[in-house]
Amino acid sequence: MHSDEATRLNPLEMVHTQLDKAARHLKADLNLVEKLKYAERALLVSVPVVMDDGQLKVFRGFRVQYNTVRGPAKGGIRYHPNVGLDEITALAAWMTWKCAVMNIPFGGAKGGVQCNPKQMNAGEIERLTRRFTAEILSFIGPDRDIPAPDVNTNSQIMAWMMDTYSMQMGHSVPGVVTGKPIEIGGSEGRSEATGLGVVYTIFEAARKLGMDLGGATAAIQGFGNVGASAAKHLCRAGVKITAVSTSKGGVYCDRGIDISALQDYYREHASLAGFQGLDVITNEELLSVDCDILIPAAMENAIHKDNAAKVRARILAEGANGPVSPAADEILNDRGVFIIPDILANAGGVTVSYFEWVQDLQNYFWNEDEINEKLRMLMVSAFNKVTAIAEDSGVDNRTAAQMLGIGRVIEATRLRGLYP
Ligand code: GLU
Repeated sequence: MHSDEATRLNPLEMVHTQLDKAARHLKADLNLVEKLKYAERALLVSVPVVMDDGQLKVFRGFRVQYNTVRGPAKGGIRYHPNVGLDEITALAAWMTWKCAVMNIPFGGAKGGVQCNPKQMNAGEIERLTRRFTAEILSFIGPDRDIPAPDVNTNSQIMAWMMDTYSMQMGHSVPGVVTGKPIEIGGSEGRSEATGLGVVYTIFEAARKLGMDLGGATAAIQGFGNVGASAAKHLCRAGVKITAVSTSKGGVYCDRGIDISALQDYYREHASLAGFQGLDVITNEELLSVDCDILIPAAMENAIHKDNAAKVRARILAEGANGPVSPAADEILNDRGVFIIPDILANAGGVTVSYFEWVQDLQNYFWNEDEINEKLRMLMVSAFNKVTAIAEDSGVDNRTAAQMLGIGRVIEATRLRGLYP
């Protein structure tokens, strides 16, 4: 949170504003829209963990199932000090629209534990994960609610979740989580999927705008799972990455950064600063770098009303969920920035999660080329649908993506009717 606007923003209010706007354009039945304003259910748990120094600490954990009309609830688990119920609920709503935009048979969920994993060691994180999983055990399941990695969680954490769940069931249940290691039922291509999906949508946007990607430049905020793999795949397409950053700050070089060398360096030093030949920049400076493509791939509200006017990129692809505040959105749209909204741009992750779940259920696995081609086809198809709605209805890409996703959830709600 960096500005007054961002501090005041309640993410749930953002969800409601977006829902009303999409419903207005869709001329939707307001009784059906009313149902979509609420999460179906939310579970709050406490997670006691004995830390390595012998002290007992109790963490707050959350799992919210926003909507299951189109299929089992689906969405990541984040470990972060700012995790709270409203944020997790909003992220669960966005997962619902995201799965519907991609037309995959899932509803939306999100979970999290309020903690600072950067100050915990692997043993403490494992105990936290296993106890959290035990607390939400009856809430989740392969045909009920399927967690996955999100901010500060990874394939190892998914392996511990899967093991804890399986031990309780008395048999292996790989389909209870996605984003697992390949050795225990994970999918080829899953770890790269979100970043690769972002890049597929950038290819389509560049084609639409007549932008030649060979020699184009990109700046990427966030060098985690999403940012680092987007950087790698953009590099392969001939794009020059001139700036990247982590939560601690960034680096810049107008001649382009050797991304694979920087990744090795980051793995070893847990920091980008000190890498030879690069200038050190702040996260704020990164957002205003003169470049063709900007990818915010860190946290919510990174671009807000006080810094939006400084963005100089032509294409803005949202690797993170909710990185542009509503006021910033207006400023960027007025300036003609081509925004690829989060529920489209970063949907590659949950799409390959879907492939992972299908493979786990059928016990038959595809190779990486098959996965990436299936991913590319779904990303291109969703991109084309969203941009067609934007053109036909005269709305921005974000509203169009929400019209597509929310429209599908509304239609499924209408068809199923109300129980009892
Ligand atoms: N956490 C990712 C997201 O926000 C992936 C969720 C998933 O694979 O279920 O889309």
